Amino acid sequence: MPHPAIFLDKDGTLIEDIPYNVDPDRITFTQGAIAALKLLSDYPLIVISNQSGVARGYFPESALIPVMQKIHSMLNEIGVELCDFYYCPHLAHCNCRKPKPGMLHQAALDHDIDLSQSWFFGVILKDVAAGRAAGCRSILIDNGNETEWQLQSDRLPHHIVSNLHEAAQIILAIRQPSLQRL
Ligand SMILES: [Zn+2]
Repeated sequence: MPHPAIFLDKDGTLIEDIPYNVDPDRITFTQGAIAALKLLSDYPLIVISNQSGVARGYFPESALIPVMQKIHSMLNEIGVELCDFYYCPHLAHCNCRKPKPGMLHQAALDHDIDLSQSWFFGVILKDVAAGRAAGCRSILIDNGNETEWQLQSDRLPHHIVSNLHEAAQIILAIRQPSLQRL
């Protein structure tokens, strides 16, 4: 049976945003992330990240391996398993760079995910647009990353919060009524 998942943008959503950083030692969780991830740990948690630093020549694609390993191990340390990690190394002419939904479609195929029951958490409206294009609901964490605020209907968040913990609380509040009916 296809099941819901939580998709997370990486930079600014899951970890503090240091542009084009690939040094594992500089990776830290965002505010509220640890509590949020513990609350959501029974969902498959999947990172969806644009990594155009590869296409721009800022770092080789292989530099992303220690980044992914570090994030996996940071999550392991708090008892949370990361289901998978997808990144787009391109800058243009692909189907995966957000706001395109290609990474979400691939994740759905790989992990038997029901996108209509899934959520995308991000910090810019391109994240929201990718989630919406894949049929997911979306939560925008408004922490200052989005500056243009072009709120067309295909980029409109279902909820706007100030950190990942608040996003997790929304998911649990929405889920609760159905649990009570059991
Ligand atoms: Zn791509």
